[in-house]
Amino acid sequence: MIPHNRPCVTAEDRAAVDSVLASGWIAQGPAVAALEALFVARHGGGGACAVSSGTAALFLAIRALGEKQGTVVAMPSYSCSALLNAVFMAGATPRVVDVRTDSFCIDPDALAENAADAQIVVAVHTFGAPADVTALQAGGRAVIEDCCQALGGSVDGIPLGTRGAASIFSFYASKIVTGGQGGLVWSSSAATVANVRDYREFDGRDHYVPRFNLQMTDIQAALVGSQMARIEAIRARRAQIAGAYLSALPTGLGSQSGIGSPGRMTHRFVVVAPDSRTRDRLRTHMQSAGIACIAPIERFELLHRYLGLNPEAFPAAEQLADVALSLPLHLQLTDDDVTHISNTLSDFLP
Ligand SMILES: *Cc1c(COP(=O)(O)O)cnc(C)c1O
Repeated sequence: MIPHNRPCVTAEDRAAVDSVLASGWIAQGPAVAALEALFVARHGGGGACAVSSGTAALFLAIRALGEKQGTVVAMPSYSCSALLNAVFMAGATPRVVDVRTDSFCIDPDALAENAADAQIVVAVHTFGAPADVTALQAGGRAVIEDCCQALGGSVDGIPLGTRGAASIFSFYASKIVTGGQGGLVWSSSAATVANVRDYREFDGRDHYVPRFNLQMTDIQAALVGSQMARIEAIRARRAQIAGAYLSALPTGLGSQSGIGSPGRMTHRFVVVAPDSRTRDRLRTHMQSAGIACIAPIERFELLHRYLGLNPEAFPAAEQLADVALSLPLHLQLTDDDVTHISNTLSDFLP
């Protein structure tokens, strides 16, 4: 069976980890600082703070931007529960907003209509597709760019994550580069980064307040940093695989918009079927050829469903949960795998 996702760890990555293990310093230290410097350089300045997960990064970014309890934070419904968790843990109030059926990203019109009271918006660049940050900033809202699925992507040559008030990244095992776990906050605002960093340095403080330990280890940072050195090659290979699938897509099936656009980081290649029966038939068709495919977000996982809100108010998210199917797209796929997946896809009769 070709797995839907698998991390790619090279001999150089293992050597980078080994040198940390041999150094005698394996907790947060010089490798974490080096990873932060790398993100500052990529984003042309600002500051970065590496932490234990993408959820921790989002929690800290919300805390830094919305100091008051009760800050209202908007987020897309078609997304992962980590968003809700971070908002609640920060003492903020979530506003779930429907998405666009083409990009799968939060719909700025639905935001204006149904979440006008939000001071902060979490703009998830879903599966690599850029959310419309400029439209979301209307009215002076603070945008947190969630780049957990879009690291290495850019629009008009500008890296995703540089236009909002802050951006967050995840290095979980299924993401574009991984340390097993890990996360990072970047911001152009020194005050925002200082706020995040202040929380992270939980020990030995003269003024005591309760803080979780959300630190990253140098072991993780070395693994992530080593993979970051080949981020452009990772982007190119993912684009090549996505291009092969797009060409093989039979008439009657669609895909998330923007695949193949310049600078796009394709985290996932998601097929859009005309209805749920066709989606389920496609999954069986691929599976019987030894190809594992998944519904990226199941109906019960939609954030409005977790909150017990009326599903009729979120028609796009509901539809995507029914008709989307994600094909394997990762660095462990061989050219033969990609050909087999493409041929199997093109053989499908919608
Ligand atoms: C993975 C992910 C997160 C959470 O990151 P973790 O490192 O798993 O805590 C948040 N947002 C999005 C869009 C993600 O894909």
